[in-house]
Amino acid sequence: MTKESRYHGSCLCGNVHYEITPPFSTFQYCHCSRCRKATGSAHASNIIMPPDQFNWLSGEEHVGRYEPAESKHFATCFCKMCGSTLPWLAKTKKAIVIPAGTLDESPKETPERNLFWDSRASWYQFPHQLPAFKTLPGKSEEVCILSSESI
Ligand SMILES: [Zn+2]
Ligand SMILES: [Zn+2]
Repeated sequence: MTKESRYHGSCLCGNVHYEITPPFSTFQYCHCSRCRKATGSAHASNIIMPPDQFNWLSGEEHVGRYEPAESKHFATCFCKMCGSTLPWLAKTKKAIVIPAGTLDESPKETPERNLFWDSRASWYQFPHQLPAFKTLPGKSEEVCILSSESI
């Protein structure tokens, strides 16, 4: 596989870099309570793939890991410098989970499904139901109306 077909990722402070090689096993939003806590967001946006398609490129010494004692699969990794969530090897060691927001390139693949939909945040709203500003409200007065065709 050529180098161009790989995707690269990094944390917010730039100390940690990694690369992944498609294909993805799946790409999904996970609304489980652990993913919501670990990301601080409504859901995780996770690419799942076999561990041998993943490599740390730099800064592995800055990567922390947390494993809830009671989880079978779930763990989380993060940059000890900036706190960004980072790819984590499942406890089973059968898959690596890539937080898609840490990718430096835009993958051609897109999410395929929602997991743990019944656990979603009570305040979760479909993005296309909300007004969308191009940047900050007040900086751009133009509100984009998202239609189902544009998403
Ligand atoms: Zn960092
Ligand atoms: Zn989850």
